[in-house]
Amino acid sequence: MSLDTPRAEPRLERLTAHEARQRLEHERATRLTQLRAIDEAGQEAAEQLMSAQKDTIERVLKEIDAAFARVQDGSYGICQGCSTPVPVERLEILPYTRFCVPCQRNAA
Ligand SMILES: [Zn+2]
Repeated sequence: MSLDTPRAEPRLERLTAHEARQRLEHERATRLTQLRAIDEAGQEAAEQLMSAQKDTIERVLKEIDAAFARVQDGSYGICQGCSTPVPVERLEILPYTRFCVPCQRNAA
């Protein structure tokens, strides 16, 4: 993506449900692939290193499922901290996020 080519129109405030689902599907597929790779590795030496990563991946998968539910009930893209729309640029990077950046910082 290049910064010196301005977009013809401003971006929509929110991802469409279709866009959100596509991004969430992609995130889920990526995590499932990672999980499978870890399961297949299965060697003792790798296990400790992998288990932390596996926990993280499983946590993200839960977040992705929760985000699918929010697409379904129409609350997707609304910050759960301050109830304002999460910027679309953030959703493009982190489509399963529950929070805008300031609320994420407060939650962390
Ligand atoms: Zn917020």
